[in-house]
Amino acid sequence: MKAEEFHLNTKAVHGKSETTKKSGPVVTPIFQTSTFQVPDIEEQSLVRQGDRFYTRYGNPTHTAAEETIAAMEGAEAALLFASGMTAITTSIIAVIKSGDHIVAQRELYGGAFNFLSRWMPRFGVETTFVEATNPDQFAQAIRPNTRLIYIESPTNPTLKIVDIERVVEIARQHGIPTFIDNTFATPINQRPIELGVDVVIHSGTKYLAGHSDLICGVVLGSRRFIADLRETRITFGGIMDPHASWLLLRGLKTLGLRVERHNQNALQVAQFLEQHPRVKRVYYPFLESHSQYALAKKQMTGGGGVLSFEIDGTAQDARRFIESLKLFALAPSLGSVESLSTIPAITSHARLSPEERASAGITDQLVRLAVGIEQVEDLITDVQQALNRAA
Ligand SMILES: *Cc1c(COP(=O)(O)O)cnc(C)c1O
Repeated sequence: MKAEEFHLNTKAVHGKSETTKKSGPVVTPIFQTSTFQVPDIEEQSLVRQGDRFYTRYGNPTHTAAEETIAAMEGAEAALLFASGMTAITTSIIAVIKSGDHIVAQRELYGGAFNFLSRWMPRFGVETTFVEATNPDQFAQAIRPNTRLIYIESPTNPTLKIVDIERVVEIARQHGIPTFIDNTFATPINQRPIELGVDVVIHSGTKYLAGHSDLICGVVLGSRRFIADLRETRITFGGIMDPHASWLLLRGLKTLGLRVERHNQNALQVAQFLEQHPRVKRVYYPFLESHSQYALAKKQMTGGGGVLSFEIDGTAQDARRFIESLKLFALAPSLGSVESLSTIPAITSHARLSPEERASAGITDQLVRLAVGIEQVEDLITDVQQALNRAA
């Protein structure tokens, strides 16, 4: 059996390591070193292209994590970054120059939206923002100088779904590459490379690492793109620490198990909320009531761990609810084993005007839950008692 024939869950545990018997550590060691020595100058010129020259260029612990994630996403190659944001900014900069144009959806991770709307214009790059759920708007926004289509699905916090195949089709008609932020879905629930996406980006801080104990990013794509991106990363310098990359490798081994549990738990919490009289509406891609349920089912194999809902009440009720939760920590982020909760209007989307928030469906009563892997009955009991207190 060849390594590429293994199931994703097997690749997560074994990475690219040979299945032949050998002597050595079972777990990839942490190469906690900034630099590497060689016996002579001739060898030094050889190692520069590899992962044993200087850690900003590469590191064997990074390589192991990169190869594992690439195998799981079905990508030719991967590159690690110090954060999801560095992964996003460095990969956009790698393909864009002054005078170019980008098409992106309006509902993007806040940092990505800021980069495109506030920073890129300083360097002569304009972005047209379109409605995530309307592929025609992507097509209409394309100009002769459009060099990139940038998407994210499901979106935060209202879990809208982008029709990935349709957007890729439009992009290909114009010879434009598509980038996707696949953080919310993970390769367990959504495999964009198989849908024709060129570049996949993750905040590895979330599900990939999975334990709220490190910050990292990863970019996946063709061998050629990743080789160029590596040069860009060497210049911009957003590289993660080898110890963090070892923690990421450990997290990856259980990604399949964890995401399966996140999927089950979030669906059950969403179903509980949907029938609760104090809840106005629930956003979760795998609820039949989701406006894009059919599309979600078509391009995803699980609904993920994040859901949001509107309390039938006031902003004060939403605050009282979230402060009454015992198991869901009041903290930003998502994708880790423990459950977390936020009110997007006063955290991730606080910088938007009330009108902008309203048009995005982000009301003061909207609560986002990142459902963890705890026993689901305990989570539902917690949500129930908090709803009672909010009443
Ligand atoms: C958290 C997040 C990011 C940013 O990642 P960091 O690791 O915090 O830099 C980007 N995109 C999405 C969808 C995220 O959830």
